[in-house]
Amino acid sequence: MIPELLEQAIITVLANDGLPFFVAATLGTTVRGAYDPLLPILKMRKEYGFWLHGDGAWGGAAMMSDRLREQFMPGLHEIDSFTCDFHKMLGSSLMCNVLLINNSNQTFGTALTAGDGTYLFRGSDDNDVDNLGSVSLQCGRRVDSLKWFLDWKYYGKAGFGRRIENYLELCKYAEQRIDEIPELEMVTPRTSFNICFQYVVPQNLASDFNEKLRTCLYHRGITLIGLADVGSRRTLRLLIANTNVDKSSIDRFFEELVSTGRELALEEISHATC
Ligand SMILES: *Cc1c(COP(=O)(O)O)cnc(C)c1O
Repeated sequence: MIPELLEQAIITVLANDGLPFFVAATLGTTVRGAYDPLLPILKMRKEYGFWLHGDGAWGGAAMMSDRLREQFMPGLHEIDSFTCDFHKMLGSSLMCNVLLINNSNQTFGTALTAGDGTYLFRGSDDNDVDNLGSVSLQCGRRVDSLKWFLDWKYYGKAGFGRRIENYLELCKYAEQRIDEIPELEMVTPRTSFNICFQYVVPQNLASDFNEKLRTCLYHRGITLIGLADVGSRRTLRLLIANTNVDKSSIDRFFEELVSTGRELALEEISHATC
């Protein structure tokens, strides 16, 4: 997000008698891993009074390391709400997401019991019983947070912090390998945990070729790598969210990818298929 453009958009809304009430900053975009800058948006919140939400579904995991939280999400503790998917980078089994509301325990109650819920929940006068039902998003669903509670107990914040810092080191290593391997190139510079790259072929063939390469790697049972569009370029998207990944598995991954790519490039000339 470009803060100057956000402000222009807010001014346009105000000029049309609208109320700019909600801004969502993405903390680690799905494709590029970009973090929207919270500090300038927080400054704007002071002036315009909107609710500032942080979507950390993917990149919010950086909160586990004090160093990386400061690097990627300075100002995090001041935003109004924040989501993080523990089933992504933090490795809990699907599904496990949290929505945190900052210093406002009224918000859930107000938002979730807008109708008359007194037939079911009566709040704090209910014979001294803490009635969590009135602040639950899910009512009678299973307790997904238990998985996270156990993970948290076992690994702790320090354990998760080390894990995320290690993932970032592995991402740097993967980028460095891509820069060293002549057959590969980064499609967009790495800014955090996402690595968008291509196997290099003439530009007009690159999107189709890389998609084919990805399918071929999958059909041969070698790997399943993400595919995403960066602008008009279809790219391979490497994400690391598995504690078993180390430098040698990254080396092996690129070796297999390059040798399959070479083969495919030759077949392409002779019009064979995978
Ligand atoms: C995965 C993702 C989502 C979706 O999260 P769900 O928990 O599946 O709803 C939202 N935002 C970003 C940035 C994501 O990476």
